[in-house]
Amino acid sequence: MKLVRFGPKGREKPGLVAPDGTLRDLSAHVPGIGWDQLSTAGQKRLRALNPAALPKVRGTPRLGVPFTGISKIVGIGLNYRAHALEAKMPIPAEPVVFMKATTCISGPNDPVLMPIGSSKLDWEVELGIVIGRETRQVSEAKALDHVAGYCVFHDVSERAFQLERGGQWDKGKGCDSFGPIGPWLVTRDEVADPQALRLWLDVNGERMQDSSTADMIFSCAEIVSYLSRFMTLLPGDVICTGTPQGVGMGRGRFLKIGDRVRLGVEGLGEQAQTVVAAK
Ligand code: ZN
Repeated sequence: MKLVRFGPKGREKPGLVAPDGTLRDLSAHVPGIGWDQLSTAGQKRLRALNPAALPKVRGTPRLGVPFTGISKIVGIGLNYRAHALEAKMPIPAEPVVFMKATTCISGPNDPVLMPIGSSKLDWEVELGIVIGRETRQVSEAKALDHVAGYCVFHDVSERAFQLERGGQWDKGKGCDSFGPIGPWLVTRDEVADPQALRLWLDVNGERMQDSSTADMIFSCAEIVSYLSRFMTLLPGDVICTGTPQGVGMGRGRFLKIGDRVRLGVEGLGEQAQTVVAAK
């Protein structure tokens, strides 16, 4: 299933994208897309509904973050070899982990806000993992059973805040609008192999990133298992699995006000954002 939340910010309704591509309203059946709907049992109940019998949503409403109940967003750094090289950082022996503030999340097509004082605003297309159940100390073999689904995640970053202001990366990762999620949460059953997905990103129509999740250093299963040794993962938690080469930092150019970013992951849909100034 492709689960969505649509409507104005703060008043989103639950929905799904039917096999014919139409947006359908789920609000007569569920109060939202949250922990219940992410669980195996909740997904089963939704799957039992006939999408063609659900009311069609008129027009093209705004899409919000496709699910709620995010207790944390865990970022994996330098998870593609060529990106580690362009960042002039060593290939990690274990996953590099950082946290993104949950207040950074935004709809897939909402504007990206350039923070006050920003000079190096950068893009990062990523595969997002959405956890479906409470997870601790899970083996690599069982790790993906704990995943509710996958989504496109834009790990928007401010490199000067991240790398030139001392301490850890988190200062450049958690600003408002630095975590567009969606358009859809695609449930795990529809993603046969999360390590075989093309992912790409354009700035003003020019292709900047074009790679495959096959190039990840640490696979989704390894990452979920690894993180579960250090923290409890809860339903709705998001793991952004790292970005491939082609970011602005490697190209010596950064985002400006008015720039238009488009990005997508194979089978998971596309996002489009315009850069505006934060107030
Ligand atoms: Zn990233």
